[in-house]
Amino acid sequence: MELIQGISGKTDIKSLTLSELTQAMKEMGEPAFRAKQLYEWMHVKKARDYDEMTNISKALKEKCRENFDFVSLRAEMVQESKLDDTKKFLFVLSDGNMIESVFMKYKFGVSVCISSQVGCRMGCKFCASTIDGVVRNLLPSEMLDQIYAISRITGEKVGRVVVMGSGEPLDNYDNLLRFIELLSNEDGMNLGQRNLTVSTCGIVPNILRLAEEKLAINLALSLHASNQDKRMALMPIANKYNIKEVLNACRTYFDKTGRQLTFEYSLVAGVNDTDEDARELSELLSGFNCVVNLIPVNPIKERDFRPTDRTTAVAFKNKLEKSRINVTIRREMGRDIDGACGQLRRRRLEES
Ligand code: SAH
Repeated sequence: MELIQGISGKTDIKSLTLSELTQAMKEMGEPAFRAKQLYEWMHVKKARDYDEMTNISKALKEKCRENFDFVSLRAEMVQESKLDDTKKFLFVLSDGNMIESVFMKYKFGVSVCISSQVGCRMGCKFCASTIDGVVRNLLPSEMLDQIYAISRITGEKVGRVVVMGSGEPLDNYDNLLRFIELLSNEDGMNLGQRNLTVSTCGIVPNILRLAEEKLAINLALSLHASNQDKRMALMPIANKYNIKEVLNACRTYFDKTGRQLTFEYSLVAGVNDTDEDARELSELLSGFNCVVNLIPVNPIKERDFRPTDRTTAVAFKNKLEKSRINVTIRREMGRDIDGACGQLRRRRLEES
């Protein structure tokens, strides 16, 4: 059996399914219930190390250390917003790479936003994560442990997860799928798939693949423009997949899964927030069962995009609503703590 490898080349124990772990234990001459115990320590009790696993013998711990990589993220820095209950975490991976995750507390519970890659290669013009390209994909365990570490540190129960941090999740498809399987597994954290949202810049073949996976996760598409030309100017991926193709893939996703579809639209002053944009966008999305999430673009120092002001954003929202489109203006949480994807990591890299 080909098991998923960690950074050191050994099998990555936290990325194994319970049945794979059971098989691995069997090959080590251990009974099946040991796999169950280990799995519970990792995915339910969120142990940071074998040392915490009180019902596992010293000998087995040693064997595990020899045979497996154990992913446990270290929080290098936590920034707490003074404006709201948002916290931004900078985690260090075992190879020294850094990633960001965000903790958000709402009236209805806690959401965590995780990264799916170190950096990103999609090149969206307003995004800080992509400036130096992609370094590597995150392992399923590294995606999971962002959530586990945050729940350990804050002591809060995580009710929703969004894969909207740095990286393009559909550019790390196999690891994303395994992450979803582990996160929603009833022997593990058991997060309902309905409480998970994956955000993509629009890799069409993988949206279509995802639609066939029989999952109950929500899809968010980063649309950000009302027509093909404007989208190409902001998002290089649009050169590969036309806006109509992307929307058709989203329609297929909805038809196959019945899950909620969100279109993210970052409002950039004078670029995509005009009356004409509102009109084109209304036409483009007419008949779609969806929510449009407007967010004034979070300015990054490397680019001179300015956010749409509040009055214009509200007017834009009203115009869409006149065409019976569901719209929300996302609260800009954690503005004071480098809230936009990739800003904190970049600042840290520049300092060192
Ligand atoms: N690669 C995925 C997920 C990560 S980005 C995707 O493209 O959807 C999460 C969302 O934040 C995307 O909608 C992205 O376009 C948006 N985003 C990135 N930088 C931003 C910024 N500076 N201001 C506002 N939104 C931004």
